[in-house]
Amino acid sequence: MSADCIFCKIVNGSIPAKKIYEDEDHIAFNDINPSARVHFLIVPKLHVESLASCEAQHQALLGKMLLLAPKLAKEQGLAGFKTLINTGKDGGQLVFHIHVHVLGGGNVPLKV
Ligand code: 5GP
Ligand code: ZN
Repeated sequence: MSADCIFCKIVNGSIPAKKIYEDEDHIAFNDINPSARVHFLIVPKLHVESLASCEAQHQALLGKMLLLAPKLAKEQGLAGFKTLINTGKDGGQLVFHIHVHVLGGGNVPLKV
């Protein structure tokens, strides 16, 4: 948990989000500013800044996060989808709590 992190606040419920999934390790919620008809984020509850700060100890968490993408995409009615992990300021990351974007349902941009 990091005090000024928006996604930690969504995880602990102090900021609302349109949650589509939750288990002991992850939550998923709709992006507040969607770039496609369906656009949600899969977020580990553990505060890890980015993919670049992950280590061997995070392997299972990363694997679970990725495996949730096809499961939740299917639940959202998507036949196909795009995943994206922005990493670091130069990689377009705005929220420094690791997350996977899942986009689909038409109007999927090449870049986000
Ligand atoms: P990044 O550029 O870090 O990969 O993407 C962060 C994403 O989080 C952006 O697509 C942005 O719209 C979304 N986002 C930022 N703040 C909030 C928020 O308070 N609630 C929700 N649901 N999404 C947010
Ligand atoms: Zn956080």
